[in-house]
Amino acid sequence: MKLTSKKFRQLARPYCVEDGAKFRLRDCDPGETKSKFEECADEILAASLEIIRGLQEKLYAQNRWSLLLIFQAMDAAGKDGTINHVMSGVNPQGCRVTSFKTPSTLELNHDFLWRSNLALPERGQIGIFNRSYYEEVLVVRVHQQLLQAERIPDALRGKHLWRDRFEDINACEKYLVRNGTVIRKFFLHLSKGEQKKRFLARLDDPAKNWKFSGADLKERAYWDDYQAAYEEMIQATATPHAPWYVVPADHKRYAHLIVAGALIDTLESLQLEVPKVTSEQREILAKAKKLLES
Ligand code: ATP
Ligand code: MG
Repeated sequence: MKLTSKKFRQLARPYCVEDGAKFRLRDCDPGETKSKFEECADEILAASLEIIRGLQEKLYAQNRWSLLLIFQAMDAAGKDGTINHVMSGVNPQGCRVTSFKTPSTLELNHDFLWRSNLALPERGQIGIFNRSYYEEVLVVRVHQQLLQAERIPDALRGKHLWRDRFEDINACEKYLVRNGTVIRKFFLHLSKGEQKKRFLARLDDPAKNWKFSGADLKERAYWDDYQAAYEEMIQATATPHAPWYVVPADHKRYAHLIVAGALIDTLESLQLEVPKVTSEQREILAKAKKLLES
């Protein structure tokens, strides 16, 4: 079964949230997949990678737009695997992944968007954030003691802190979009039951032991707080210029398909073209050819 670009687009669209006002996480089923897809997933995914490869080549050659892909999720939702998969076909020179961990002392000496600014993609490039400044309204919101380390002046730490952060994030994203950075955000939506299964698999399989961290279990205890924080984050920051995709993540390959589809949709909407050769350049090329052949 060969899927066209159009079909990939259609597959991803239902998961795209451009207006957070009516968004409810409980309306999204993390276990969603399509049996027809699962039957020939390898083939379909390979086809999607082929399309992405071609589009990225044009993005790079045209050197005008940049693409920022942001991944957020609970532990074991498959961020790494998804990034790995979707990017496996692209030219590494045009792509950079940045993983955001607990902020360093230097990072804590700056405003919360500072470290992300340093990692933004250049024109022609795809930048991937494995976690991002959205942690500032997720983990920092769930564990508010983390704010202490940020040393925001007391006078500015009013009760509107989270609302202010949403506003600042939206403004910052709008600014980037207006300057040629296309932004797409992915929340890999995993169920609590599937997380348990994946943690147990990591504990049972020696080859997967390294993936398990005690901290993951601690965070699992805050599951409901995180879900509430994710819901509010999407409600406040899903916009037409920087939408969220809420990707069902219990079936890994289906999640890969939706992210690949979103990527294809986004890159195709830019109507990318390799730069046209001017008549002057054509003359230079003809001369170069003559020289090489003589
Ligand atoms: P994996 O576990 O798959 O390797 P990961 O993204 O979970 O990947 P970890 O090193 O386990 O990586 O965790 C990074 C931690 O850093 C997460 O718990 C995350 O919440 C935390 N973190 C990221 N950004 C911030 C931030 N701005 N403030 C506080 N904690 C943050
Ligand atoms: Mg982790």
